[in-house]
Amino acid sequence: MRIFIYSIVVWIFQLFLLPISNAQNSLNLQNDSVTYNLNPYLKMLKDPHRSLSITQIQSPVFQNRFVSHPDFSLGFSQAGYWLQFTILSPPDKSWILSIHNPLLVHAKLYIPKGDSGFQVQEWGSQTTKLYSYKYPIFSIKPQSATPQTYYLYVWGDGPLDLPVLIESETFFQKKDHIEQFWQGIFYGILFVMAVYNFILYVFLRDLSYLYYVLYLILIAFFLLSLSGYGNEWLWSSPSWWSDRAVFITGNLTAIMIVIFCLQFLHLRKTLPTWYKIGRYFIIVTVVEVILGAFLLDLSLNMLLLTITAAIFVIIILSISIKSYQNGNLSAGYLLLAWTVMLISVGIAVLNAFGLIPSNTFTLKSLQIGSVTDVILISLALVDRIHSIQMQKIQIEQEKNNAEHNQKVKEEILATMSHEIRTPLNAVIGFAKLLEKTNTTQTQSDYIRHIHESAENLLVLINDILDLSKINAGKVTFEQVEINLQECVRHLFETLQFQVTEKKLEMKADIQEDVPTLFLGDPVRLNQILLNLLSNAVKFTPKGSVTLRIRTLKLEKQQIALLFEVEDTGIGIPANRLSSIFEGFTQASDQTTRMYGGTGLGLAIVKQLVEMQGGNIAVKSHPGIGSVFSVALPFYRVYSVTEKNETVPASFPETPLVLLIIDDNPLNRLIAQSTVHNASSNAKAELAGSGQEGIELLKKTEYHAVLIDLQMPDMDGYEVARHIRTHLPDKQHIPLIAMTASLDDRDHEQALAAGMHDIVTKPFEAGVLFKKIFKLRANLQNPGNEPNQK
Ligand code: ADP
Repeated sequence: MRIFIYSIVVWIFQLFLLPISNAQNSLNLQNDSVTYNLNPYLKMLKDPHRSLSITQIQSPVFQNRFVSHPDFSLGFSQAGYWLQFTILSPPDKSWILSIHNPLLVHAKLYIPKGDSGFQVQEWGSQTTKLYSYKYPIFSIKPQSATPQTYYLYVWGDGPLDLPVLIESETFFQKKDHIEQFWQGIFYGILFVMAVYNFILYVFLRDLSYLYYVLYLILIAFFLLSLSGYGNEWLWSSPSWWSDRAVFITGNLTAIMIVIFCLQFLHLRKTLPTWYKIGRYFIIVTVVEVILGAFLLDLSLNMLLLTITAAIFVIIILSISIKSYQNGNLSAGYLLLAWTVMLISVGIAVLNAFGLIPSNTFTLKSLQIGSVTDVILISLALVDRIHSIQMQKIQIEQEKNNAEHNQKVKEEILATMSHEIRTPLNAVIGFAKLLEKTNTTQTQSDYIRHIHESAENLLVLINDILDLSKINAGKVTFEQVEINLQECVRHLFETLQFQVTEKKLEMKADIQEDVPTLFLGDPVRLNQILLNLLSNAVKFTPKGSVTLRIRTLKLEKQQIALLFEVEDTGIGIPANRLSSIFEGFTQASDQTTRMYGGTGLGLAIVKQLVEMQGGNIAVKSHPGIGSVFSVALPFYRVYSVTEKNETVPASFPETPLVLLIIDDNPLNRLIAQSTVHNASSNAKAELAGSGQEGIELLKKTEYHAVLIDLQMPDMDGYEVARHIRTHLPDKQHIPLIAMTASLDDRDHEQALAAGMHDIVTKPFEAGVLFKKIFKLRANLQNPGNEPNQK
């Protein structure tokens, strides 16, 4: 890069400045503490084949060919150049002549020795170095006070830039010490930054930091090579490495900066074209490094490095500008860093040619520039950490908001469904009661329609609530004993009415090896099978519905059962088979009109099956029928304690007196009518509030108390707690919660408050009596825990 800038600056210099500078004949060295620029006093002779000797060039023929205004930069030339200059100095004073170009291969100074020719000092990789220094230096000690003419012979591989300076030896040494001090600070800063960023990389595992560390190492080596300090401090020179260090480290630094930019600016996603260009650049440069290291001529290497540097500058400036324009603010730091780098290189070059005065700032511009660069890139990295943190905070906030919204949504759904279910229960309850009264045919048809519609609405509400619970991950599965026989019997009982009405045949085919008792979630199993069976009944106009149960796996701990629900119904078109498991999807657009339903049932079933580690499949032929197969895993039970609880066919056999506590008069009436209608042995008394219920309970003996959970003033939980803590003689009375909500948490809270069980409104009298019967049996026989489901 520096070489590239060198060339530009030199070219500008030649164009504008050199023609007006005054050529002078001899340089008068007097001041001990200034740096003299020798260039205006130089005359030059080109030696194209590097064949002329000092004797030859002293002949008048060649002397006349010396040009007065030699170019500062002789370009990529391999020719030799003779430079002639005359200086005047107090005798016996030591001066140092230096050529500020570490890339020079060879330099030879011919120092006049009175009348008898020249004393020769040589510098360069071809001969022994006089001084082990970063660029060519020569010691001059004029013997007389008269003007002396010197000859300097140079050639090299890189661009032949020749800033030739002279200063007193003491001044040179003083400057050199200061220089070394600054260099030490500079490389120290690079080292600390590298260690610091490496630690960040170890903790953050962000590749940008690693690339940045590698960049720091490479730029340090590049600057060491370019300034000549590498030769002076680190490696022997001349050697294979010292000849190629600038070329190799320069190219590698460029590669590393491009890799860093690709990673840091996420170019693959944000600027794919520039990402590709960057990658091509890296590949080509790697090839260039390999060829340059082992095959190419040294002078060609330097030319290639200059071209690479030019392309590199264009690429990194372009991608930084584009990224910045795209809104990546960290790219702004990079842009600033590259600009500072270019300016500092420019200042260094201008100073090297004496175009701007030497002061601490101009002399150290390369170091100051590089340190600023390193800091700016670190700032870019810090800025990125900051923006990543901001993003994290934002994501966290969004997550919290989403969770909050989900919670609010669930609460709204739960409340809504509760609010809708309460009046709906009244509708269903009264419809049921009305059905049993004396009505005309038309009236009973209307009542049936009201009843059916209300039931459908209830199913829909339950489905929506279920689906929202599943989506919120709120569904948990129990592992309690399942009695398969009972489960199937219950399913068939539930569907009996529709089956009889449609004159269908309903069969159960349970393979012999299927265990009757196993562990799982009976409620969910019932929900899954009821859904499939009621669909089968619904979509089968004539024929049969069969529930087949087979054993898929029978192991010591686990079993897997296959449930198949087969019908001879309308079937499902092949192109709809895969979509019927999606929410709100039905096999045909006429389904709702003809059969009702919402298309939610199978979506819920599929989720419930899969959440338990099972799977569901369907085979169907339109007009012939469908088979839904569900495979589900369960755990086996070994310690089967056969319960000798036989639920009587008609119960209660003995009188059963219940207390119903509910604030809603309609609900009270429905519950009471349900109990009364179910059995002449059962009687229910009513209380409109918790307090009233407690008072009644103190005075009267009841077999069980039904308590509504949601009541003003004293809710169901409070009533239960009060009974358990303040009425010692009612410690064992069965308390059953009534609720319109389906939330599992209600159940848990009810149990925690001292209740034994829960019924969902509208409840079936049979279900309620069974629960009470079981509870009373368990409570009378303390060995048995109350059944809590
Ligand atoms: P719904 O029954 O409420 O419409 P489901 O999710 O239970 O919703 O079923 C989705 C659709 O799948 C039904 O609308 C129907 O078109 C089709 N389907 C389900 N079971 C059967 C079956 N046994 N026979 C024919 N079609 C069925």
